[in-house]
Amino acid sequence: MNPPEIRTLFRGVAESIIAHTEELTALDAAIGDGDHGLNMHRGMQAILDDLDRIASKPLPEALTAAGATLVMKVGGASGPLYGTLLMALGKEMPPDPTLADAVKAFGLAIAAVQARGKSERGQKTMLDVLIPVHEALSLASDGTDSVRLATAKAAAATIEMKAIRGRASFLGDRSVGHLDPGARSSQLMIEAVLDVIGGKT
Ligand code: ADP
Ligand code: MG
Repeated sequence: MNPPEIRTLFRGVAESIIAHTEELTALDAAIGDGDHGLNMHRGMQAILDDLDRIASKPLPEALTAAGATLVMKVGGASGPLYGTLLMALGKEMPPDPTLADAVKAFGLAIAAVQARGKSERGQKTMLDVLIPVHEALSLASDGTDSVRLATAKAAAATIEMKAIRGRASFLGDRSVGHLDPGARSSQLMIEAVLDVIGGKT
């Protein structure tokens, strides 16, 4: 990927999250402490502010730099987890990845998030989007439609889950019936990536 492509990718992800700040805050207010929108907004604004430096790097280093920014700026549970995701992607991704390279790197990065969060699928977290998306990506032969569908379906499926990790787990059964904020932010970021690699922006 060249610098303009990397710039478009990070800008698309950051602008989507920033545009959905209030929605993410409202989701977190329902089952957490109401800071997910602001946490993510702060991290994404920092990436935009630093985009010249980030996008001048080869893709692996750009991902690592963006991940470090998220760890520093986002805070909460999601900052270190999304930071870990991007930094692990940076470690595993070649500069010009094929789809197979990207799928492999994404799988390893998800494993790093799981190790960091001591979490797994089915606990009503971002992983309930990231893991199904990885599966859909590894099956995708042409186009991004199937992955897009899997992303939306996975996020919606967190509504009926009971939270076992994160603040929402304090609510126990009362966490059921609400979309997980981190699942929603993951959905937004993945859809933004699909828009860019699918040529929609
Ligand atoms: P905090 O919970 O510290 O206020 P945020 O509100 O920014 O942090 O992020 C909450 C989101 O982080 C949750 O909706 C969930 O998706 C995700 N999350 C929390 N804990 C974990 C964990 N251990 N593993 C994976 N994801 C987690
Ligand atoms: Mg929160």
